[in-house]
Amino acid sequence: MRRTWSILLGLLWAAALLLALPRDGQSAPVASVESDAVRPLVLIRALGPVPHDRLRSACRSLLRTYPVRCEIGEKRDLLAVWSAWDEGRSQLDARAAINVLFRDRSPDALVELDVTEVDIYEVDKPYVFGLASLTDRIALVSLSRIDDDGAERLRRRLHKLVLHEVGHALGLHHHDDPECVMRQDPTTASLDSAPERPCAECHATLMNNAARLVRPGQPALDRARGHLVRGAYDDARLALAETLHAGEFDHELLRAFATAFFEARQYNEAISVLRFVVKQDPEAAEAHVDLGLCYQVRAREGDRELAIEHLEIALELRPDWELVGDHLDALLASAA
Ligand SMILES: [Zn+2]
Ligand SMILES: [Zn+2]
Repeated sequence: MRRTWSILLGLLWAAALLLALPRDGQSAPVASVESDAVRPLVLIRALGPVPHDRLRSACRSLLRTYPVRCEIGEKRDLLAVWSAWDEGRSQLDARAAINVLFRDRSPDALVELDVTEVDIYEVDKPYVFGLASLTDRIALVSLSRIDDDGAERLRRRLHKLVLHEVGHALGLHHHDDPECVMRQDPTTASLDSAPERPCAECHATLMNNAARLVRPGQPALDRARGHLVRGAYDDARLALAETLHAGEFDHELLRAFATAFFEARQYNEAISVLRFVVKQDPEAAEAHVDLGLCYQVRAREGDRELAIEHLEIALELRPDWELVGDHLDALLASAA
């Protein structure tokens, strides 16, 4: 019975989110990216010694292809990622390095791209050209294995790698299509034959994501998610508090914060955020559903009644919301 509940709850939660919270990779009706002022910022940083023209070239690739702004930031010292260095392989563990880079990433940039001349690898692979974290929005690209066939070839390879890894950081997944830069190219030969752009479908997804992710508070939300995944709950709370203090939010952003805390089982924070939302906007039916579910899952004394109350409010606001109606019926029918 308990298992059935948790499955149902999971489904309802997902459905509630789908109704109002577009996620990475989904198309959503959003405003088009029109001016520089509303383009998300990609910060490019050298990790260790990297010629400046490589960084500028990476910047140009992004500006030509993606709806982003681009800045070259302060260089990072290789010593910063020493804990990710594998002495035996003489390579940098890319995933471990991204984990370290996350800790002091810029609070303002949506995406950080680090470029290094050091050879990098991923567990179970001899090497990788680059790696990105979709959730941390950090991309890492290595010049180590692409810089041996002349300047023009290097420029073209770097262009493709930058678009691919920053594509991930902006929410694109791998796309097994020969005409798409999001295809996987594990060798320089295959990289040389790769296209120089994403396919139309991936490009449309990226335009949508960029327009949505440029909202105020998104970098703080990403940071909070990153901290929650790492179990750094205090840091996540701090990111939320700073966002609220700065007034940089809309209700959808706050619901996304609540979802992140909910998924990390930090129900008190999820509930506080959602209570704030429904206080400001008592007609936000989705937020009432989220809040009802949070109370139900937290299951402290009195929470069941609060869950019922908020699900009922949601149904009053949206009487045709069948899934919520069914869930409420089941909750009412269950033993108090
Ligand atoms: Zn990839
Ligand atoms: Zn594609």
